Amino acid sequence: MTNPTMTTAAVTSPATTAPAATAPDSDLEAARSEFRDELLASGLLIDAGELGLYGRSGLFEDVVDGISRSVTRLLADLNAERMRFAPVFPRPEFENTDYIVSFPHLTGAVNGFTGTEADHRRLVSARANGEDWSAWLSPAETVLVPAVCHPLYERLRGTLPAGGRTFDLSGFCFRHEPSIDPMRLQAFRQQEFVHVGLETDAGEFRNAQNERQLAGLLDLGLDARVVAANDPFFGRTGRMLARNQLADEAKLEVVVPIYGDLDEGTAIASANNHGDHFGATFGIQTVDGSPSASSCLGWGLERIALALVRTHGTDVASWSPAVRSSLSLA
Ligand SMILES: [Zn+2]
Repeated sequence: MTNPTMTTAAVTSPATTAPAATAPDSDLEAARSEFRDELLASGLLIDAGELGLYGRSGLFEDVVDGISRSVTRLLADLNAERMRFAPVFPRPEFENTDYIVSFPHLTGAVNGFTGTEADHRRLVSARANGEDWSAWLSPAETVLVPAVCHPLYERLRGTLPAGGRTFDLSGFCFRHEPSIDPMRLQAFRQQEFVHVGLETDAGEFRNAQNERQLAGLLDLGLDARVVAANDPFFGRTGRMLARNQLADEAKLEVVVPIYGDLDEGTAIASANNHGDHFGATFGIQTVDGSPSASSCLGWGLERIALALVRTHGTDVASWSPAVRSSLSLA
């Protein structure tokens, strides 16, 4: 039992779905369950034992890789600096993001065992008696990454070059949100393009690149559209934050219908304006000494893959030559 255990759960971004509004929940749940069954029967996804937790087949991974190559190609002229981080990051940095204030229900933290041999004997004995042994674990130094841009900001502490910096990030994110809906995973990958710099540049980046990401997703044959959206903030204060976010259009999502008219579509990508939130909390300044602004595009790689399956069918070999070519599958 020396391995850290991941308990509670984490994320924002492309993973935010508009709430079901137009149909009885039971119809929507049935449609989600049916899609899940179809994916498992096709072998594209493999049931990994918890809702929202799946293995991926080689073919599914080929599609995910193709989506990543396609967005990388689409935004190649940004000359983004390519960086990859682990799916866990330091607890103090997680603290700095304020994620726990807004999304306690999605957070995932790592616990580890640091006790004595006597503690270990008590843990083993509790386990042998079928009792809860998690009390012998304590919070480790790391928290699960809720959005792939979060491990970046501490690395940027200090003064940015004129013109700011642009990054290409990708990796696994976690959100504690078990669901029958295969569009809602607990562990999934995002690819993000992040600009950190002047407020005007970050705003322009968000709007201009959002147009291009929509075009890229339409090119894949998806029935995609952009909507103003809000993150799933927790609680009553959260509802106010969500209203502000909507009013400011700080978050745009690219949504695709997955369950027909049963809901308002599922977000597969997002474009987010952070203002100076990360610049101020992580001590990132522009050349004039003011806190930097940031914005990011996030592609939900599994969500896009699943939207493609929903649109073009489970037989990936039969997808149109144009789509296969865009995904480098041809
Ligand atoms: Zn981000």
